[in-house]
Amino acid sequence: MNDLSRGIRRDRELLTLAMTQVLDSGWVVLGPQHDSFQKALAEYLGVSHVIGVASGTDALELAIKVAMPEGRTTVLSAANAGGYATTAARRAGFRVRYADVDFESLCLTEATISAALTADIGVVVITHLYGNLTDIGGLVALCHERGIRVVEDCAQAIGARRPEGAAGSFGDLSTTSFYPTKNLGALGDGGAVATNNAAFAAKVTQLRQYGWVSKYRVAIAGGANSRLDEIQAAVLLARLPQLDALNDRRRWIIAQYVAAAAGGPLRVLPAVGEHHVAHLAVALTARRDEVRGVLAEHGVSTDIHFPVPDHEQPGFNAEPHSLPNTEEFAGQSLSLPCFPELTDEEILTVCKAIRALA
Ligand SMILES: *Cc1c(COP(=O)(O)O)cnc(C)c1O
Repeated sequence: MNDLSRGIRRDRELLTLAMTQVLDSGWVVLGPQHDSFQKALAEYLGVSHVIGVASGTDALELAIKVAMPEGRTTVLSAANAGGYATTAARRAGFRVRYADVDFESLCLTEATISAALTADIGVVVITHLYGNLTDIGGLVALCHERGIRVVEDCAQAIGARRPEGAAGSFGDLSTTSFYPTKNLGALGDGGAVATNNAAFAAKVTQLRQYGWVSKYRVAIAGGANSRLDEIQAAVLLARLPQLDALNDRRRWIIAQYVAAAAGGPLRVLPAVGEHHVAHLAVALTARRDEVRGVLAEHGVSTDIHFPVPDHEQPGFNAEPHSLPNTEEFAGQSLSLPCFPELTDEEILTVCKAIRALA
């Protein structure tokens, strides 16, 4: 499904240089690499503030804390996005409720959330799933009319763009992850919060370091220790310029799978256009076990993103929900290998295996 050693080998010189700069500088946390990366990512996304943190889940937790309006208690999220928003919202001390996703985008939409916007909801988390920057202009407007803030989870969609802006520039705040398998990956954990709101940015900056307003002075409650270290920042700064080309390669891989699957039992979700950065190659089939078996016989490994929706996770202990689309997708989806360093030959092997299903 993924081989991180290939990207590391390709970037070896670049990464060695970046890490050598850190060794030479003597700074290990919140130093010049961190500052430069925050600036570079803000420029890339077209937002005014980026704050580096220790993971994508931490980014969500801090963004939700900052976004939640006074007196509200609940986060509304999709239940098909791996549980990260639920983990973060609960750590932030809030309740979580779920709305169903749209059949086409697999994301929340204005229509799927409108009935769920009760008075206790203060934050809606939109996850741009599988790399698809879903069209959220109308959803954001609807939420703002009701005093609800929107947090975009861009962990799978960094680099995706629409004419109106990049993924991460539509919500009140947005978050991303630099986990090594993401489209922009570090050599360890990392994450970031982005926003155009200076007050939100200042608050996230305080919360990621104990709630400090200055050294040893705690100004706000809910602080954490969640910093992006210099080594990861240097790696990310070195890799950021490649992101668009690598996202192109990912889209191309999915286009090959879509073509191979035409007329067969697998519906490979397309990733066409700048709004989709093809984080995962996801296909739907009612005969999943059988299909996975045939693909395995052809030497193709598959995975499931994600097998158990949040509202059915015992550890999340959610109140009962009825989410028909979410439940149907969880039973039908499978992921094919999709990372930029796959060779053309390997992609052909996957395509042959897909054709063997017909
Ligand atoms: C990976 C991921 C996260 C969490 O990121 P971590 O850095 O692993 O904490 C959050 N949301 C989505 C959609 C993800 O894919």
